[in-house]
Amino acid sequence: MSEGKLIVFSAPSGSGKTTIVRHLLKQPELKLDFSISATSRAPRENEVDGKDYYFLSLKDFKQKIKNDEFLEWEEVYRDNFYGTLKSEVERIWKNGKHVIFDIDVVGGLDIKNIYPKRTLAVFVKPPSIEELKIRLKKRKTESPDKISMRVAKASIELATAPQFDFIIENNKLDVALEEAYELVSSYVGAEKTAK
Ligand code: 5GP
Repeated sequence: MSEGKLIVFSAPSGSGKTTIVRHLLKQPELKLDFSISATSRAPRENEVDGKDYYFLSLKDFKQKIKNDEFLEWEEVYRDNFYGTLKSEVERIWKNGKHVIFDIDVVGGLDIKNIYPKRTLAVFVKPPSIEELKIRLKKRKTESPDKISMRVAKASIELATAPQFDFIIENNKLDVALEEAYELVSSYVGAEKTAK
């Protein structure tokens, strides 16, 4: 698909962007496919290699950086590398789909800079840092020190919001989902099919 587009959802960890991205992927008329990132972090329980992420060793990740296989990559947390493989975007475009990303703010803005004319970059804003802390604790996927690390990073990430094309405030999930749907469907030119 030569006219394939890129839809970036970026946000601090715990803002609900993954939920939004999953919801959009369920709408066939949007013709979206998820960009599976590579990461050097360990899989969480329930995460599947090749579905949630391509889980790589730190050594393999660094080798792929050397080979110039990444469109963008970032050491999001210390020794936890994350990146978008060029082959991933090509795979999705070849299948006639638009690429949707769930990536950190730096990576999101990198994609926007690489493909300025075919990227919609959306920032998902949590109601507050306090609420973010509560959500991360409830999720129970991170230890207390990792939660503190993610919360500290969130304040820095929030400052980048104005650089995105749109900001969605995730105060009420159903409203955020609807807003995200409207934005993406008008960007890709989809018409909702009668259900
Ligand atoms: P988590 O460990 O919670 O899955 O992800 C941590 C952060 O890394 C999240 O903000 C997530 O969106 C981001 N991330 C995931 N994949 C990529 C990627 O390919 N590139 C970049 N730059 N960030 C990513």
